[in-house]
Amino acid sequence: MANSKFEYVKQFEQPDNILPNTWVVVRIDGRGFTKFANKYGFEKPNDKRALELMNAAARAVMAELPDITIAYGVSDEYSFVFHKTCVLFERRSSKLVSTIVSTFTAYYVHYWPTYFPDTPLSPPLPSFDGRAVCYPSVQNLRDYMSWRQVDCHINNLYNTTFWALIQLGGMDATEAEKTLKGTYAADKNEILFSRFSINYNNEPEIYKKGSVVFRDYEPVEPGTHNAAAEADSLAVPVQQSKTQNETDRKRRAKAPIVVEHLDIIKDDFWDRRPWLLSNKPGKIPKEV
Ligand code: ATP
Ligand code: ATP
Ligand code: MG
Ligand code: MG
Repeated sequence: MANSKFEYVKQFEQPDNILPNTWVVVRIDGRGFTKFANKYGFEKPNDKRALELMNAAARAVMAELPDITIAYGVSDEYSFVFHKTCVLFERRSSKLVSTIVSTFTAYYVHYWPTYFPDTPLSPPLPSFDGRAVCYPSVQNLRDYMSWRQVDCHINNLYNTTFWALIQLGGMDATEAEKTLKGTYAADKNEILFSRFSINYNNEPEIYKKGSVVFRDYEPVEPGTHNAAAEADSLAVPVQQSKTQNETDRKRRAKAPIVVEHLDIIKDDFWDRRPWLLSNKPGKIPKEV
């Protein structure tokens, strides 16, 4: 290796290692997407094409990074969860985050013409910020996921009512905002139903629940495993034989990566899918 008098600059690189034995969540978020959405005429309050484009990019990220056990997306954001037992390809937070952000952004731009065939991208091009947060317990991780899905629900109920007042009720933004000030969920449901005959429950699941991306195996009966407690009891990454690693890798690669719009707050979702918390690949579902 060539040494030079300039090499001391390397020492300015400070460690930013992420905490071991934790669930690492990398959340990315579109930069200035309020403006971006206007520029490309995203439908208000929800543009389905834009959401499906986000989901396509997230699937691609998961396919490239098998250590991601689950991802959750809403609006212009996506959270990617690295399993706590995985041997991360990168322990530096900045490198981990930048890998996710650049891979996601590259696929977002790549898939853009598929979802917006009539509106080509032009500068300023879409970009995303990102951060990594380490969660020590399954409960912390579950609460994080619940926080994002509750946020999705609150925002979507608000936005659906806000835009109904404007698009169907003829209000301007100021009037709509005033109408909604201080209202509870029940009030918004009532406004939607009595004024516009909209039953919020019948709104598309993708808007109400957001999108959850994961590798799909055959679901199990709830109560037949204790993946959460087992994950919490681990203190170091699981040491597996090379053959076992290889078998896991192959099964993981075979599993379809699905995008669903399910409740991830209740236990049921996690109970039926032990592999999300155990990181042990399940049975490959039979071809339908
Ligand atoms: P920042 O750079 O701080 O994230 P931002 O403008 O991106 O600013 P966010 O809080 O991230 O602000 O909000 C994202 C905005 O993008 C929403 O307000 C919404 O208007 C718009 N948006 C994102 N996805 C969609 C979509 N699928 N349909 C309609 N609008 C969308
Ligand atoms: P920053 O880049 O400064 O961190 P941010 O827009 O990413 O800003 P966060 O504080 O990281 O905001 O919060 C992430 C998301 O959580 C926001 O996009 C918003 O949807 C939601 N959020 C944050 N605070 C609140 C709040 N008080 N009420 C409702 N939702 C909130
Ligand atoms: Mg944004
Ligand atoms: Mg956002």
